[in-house]
Amino acid sequence: MARGAGYWELDAGRARVAAPIAVKGRPMRNPIYDVLFEPVQIGPVTAPNRFYQVPHCTGMGYRYPQSEAAHRGVKAAGGWGVVSTQETEIHETSDLTPSNEARLWDDRDIPALRLMTDAVHEYGSLAAIQLAHNGLHSANRYSRRIPLAPSAVVVDSDDPVNARAMDKSDIASFRRWHVDAARRGKAAGFDIIYVYAGHDMTLLQHFLLQRHNHRTDEYGGSMQNRLRLFREVIADTRDAVGDTCAIAVRFAVEELLGAEGIRHDVEAREVIEALAEEPDLWDVNMSNWSNDSQTSRFAKEGYQEPYTEFVKSVTTKPVVGVGRYTSPDTMVRLIKQGKLDMIGAARPSIADPYLPKKISEGRLEEIRECIGCNICVSGDNTSVPFRCTQNPTAGEEWRRDWHPEIITAPKKTKPYLIIGGGPAGLEAARTLVKAGNDVIIAEASSQWGGRVTVESQLPGLAEWARVRDWRMWQLQQVQNAEMYLDSSLSADDILEYGIANVAIATGSHWRNDGAGRAHRRPLPFLQSDLVMSPDDAMHGGLKQDSGTGPIVIFDDDRFYLGSVLAEMAATTGRAVVFVTPSPIVAPWSTFTLEQHRIQNRLIALDVEIVPNTLLADMDGTQLSLACAYSGKTRQIDCGTFIPVTSRLPNDRLWTDLNARRTDWQDAGLERVTRIGDCYAPGLIAAAVYAGHKYAREAIGGGDTVLREDMNGNV
Ligand code: ADP
Ligand code: SF4
Repeated sequence: MARGAGYWELDAGRARVAAPIAVKGRPMRNPIYDVLFEPVQIGPVTAPNRFYQVPHCTGMGYRYPQSEAAHRGVKAAGGWGVVSTQETEIHETSDLTPSNEARLWDDRDIPALRLMTDAVHEYGSLAAIQLAHNGLHSANRYSRRIPLAPSAVVVDSDDPVNARAMDKSDIASFRRWHVDAARRGKAAGFDIIYVYAGHDMTLLQHFLLQRHNHRTDEYGGSMQNRLRLFREVIADTRDAVGDTCAIAVRFAVEELLGAEGIRHDVEAREVIEALAEEPDLWDVNMSNWSNDSQTSRFAKEGYQEPYTEFVKSVTTKPVVGVGRYTSPDTMVRLIKQGKLDMIGAARPSIADPYLPKKISEGRLEEIRECIGCNICVSGDNTSVPFRCTQNPTAGEEWRRDWHPEIITAPKKTKPYLIIGGGPAGLEAARTLVKAGNDVIIAEASSQWGGRVTVESQLPGLAEWARVRDWRMWQLQQVQNAEMYLDSSLSADDILEYGIANVAIATGSHWRNDGAGRAHRRPLPFLQSDLVMSPDDAMHGGLKQDSGTGPIVIFDDDRFYLGSVLAEMAATTGRAVVFVTPSPIVAPWSTFTLEQHRIQNRLIALDVEIVPNTLLADMDGTQLSLACAYSGKTRQIDCGTFIPVTSRLPNDRLWTDLNARRTDWQDAGLERVTRIGDCYAPGLIAAAVYAGHKYAREAIGGGDTVLREDMNGNV
């Protein structure tokens, strides 16, 4: 194998950090970060530092309370001074089923949340609960209650359900429910109780917004009237629990809707000026959720700063803000410039629950930075426990007893051979070496990272390189990892090395025959001279293509790649046509909150979008398209055809090795395992997870157990 030189050649996605200083060989905190570790007084409670895990969904909530508690507890262990729940339904008229949010409908819900506060308090952090009534955002599918809203309007989902206008007794009931929930939150052990008006998801924000609030009484009309209920609920909450609990307000200061919504410099300023000193803390962000949790494809670290920076000039209370902050230098700047008092984080705390501790201990290079992909968000949006591309232990802290930092060394370490240096191979290798095993990892190409290296060079995806860079850095620090580039291994090679445990992580490739979801079998009419596979397109094929006619992308994958290739294709100056069997571009990206941005971007690039359409025939440069409903066909010109349909595993090595199974024993081969895309192509998150799971099971000597976690267990 050729020793790969300079395997740390690419670090485009990594945020810059000040160098740690070393004392007697061990890094310690650079004093410039000391400011991040100052305690912060929040009403009657004190946060131990400025790291604040703001409320975020996990897809676990009331249905998986042990998992929820373990996940939050790990954040406290990792140094987050405040750890919050996700939104917590306060009443059955705010029923988000089938989503797995937190729930405090009555006293029976307290024990599940007590699990979390106990887990958080164990490490000296504060626990916060985000009380929520979702108003016209909840169709109440489970409780069957009629949704409540400021005015009689249809709910904001596609459910054929209308909300009714709240009368004065409904308003009184809502205030009582909120007080009851606050008391229950206190009884569950929470230190900070939220009043929540954000994300276009809560009754209190619905009252603030003219587009939802058409009332003519003292709760409608002027802004002073529209914020009346907000003010009342803050006061109610303080009266109920403010003696020992801090009252936090979560408020959306910008909706990016112009005069139709809340503008940071107009309505938001008016609201905060009016209520400035009423809560103990302002947690401010953008609305709706897709604006708040923008992906790295569309927004860089700190994207909320222009909208939230004014808040501190209007209130003396501590202010928390978010913006996918992973750079400690940026965090210090925000504090020093008086833009925030506490660094809020959801995704950075998921990708690295130990981010604060690593800064505190001068281990900055060990921070596992969020890549801004929103795969975590897709968990909540599909009502399952979430996963994280960077942190394979997220959501598995209780279910599989995986800790993000601790991997127990086996009694006896073993050597491993890993073939393929993509996300699966790198994660398997770094986990195995962390547990003390010797690992050889061989990569066929001249660069590490597999698909993340290729995809991170596509428009908008640079931060995805962090998946590779963090793992490479880890592997670079140890003596027990041997890494070889330009080393395409064959079955002969593997048998010759005779290493007992082998993981094959050789990835996958895109099909170029049209087979996928819509067309289950290959399309014989596709003409090879016009077809360019997505792999070729990504490897420079699009730039080198000498064709002149339109570039037609047929996207049956339905996530991000088709649209990213369309963006690339648009830079060639040729006409681009995006054909998809789906009614919208990239429908799965709805779950990552990107769909409307993706479709907008293609429209802005003059890409012609052809939805609800299948392929019927190809004759010369004429591509025949068929309506997915009627079958009616039409012809379009096609100069280059890129089918983004599905992938096949690169399992040749596996097949070759299995054909030589009788030689294994003599060669000393015991266990060969396929991991990641070469087992079954999927998300990058799934490949990282597969690498991690392989290593955990190899170290532990057997399959990891998936524990059931339903609320009956509490
Ligand atoms: P995954 O997402 O499962 O990690 P990737 O496709 O990202 O998969 O990475 C697989 C890596 O395996 C690629 O970098 C590829 O070059 C490498 N590879 C494929 N076949 C071999 C082989 N026979 N020997 C060594 N490396 C290989
Ligand atoms: Fe960040 Fe992606 Fe992990 Fe979410 S899934 S925390 S966006 S790396």
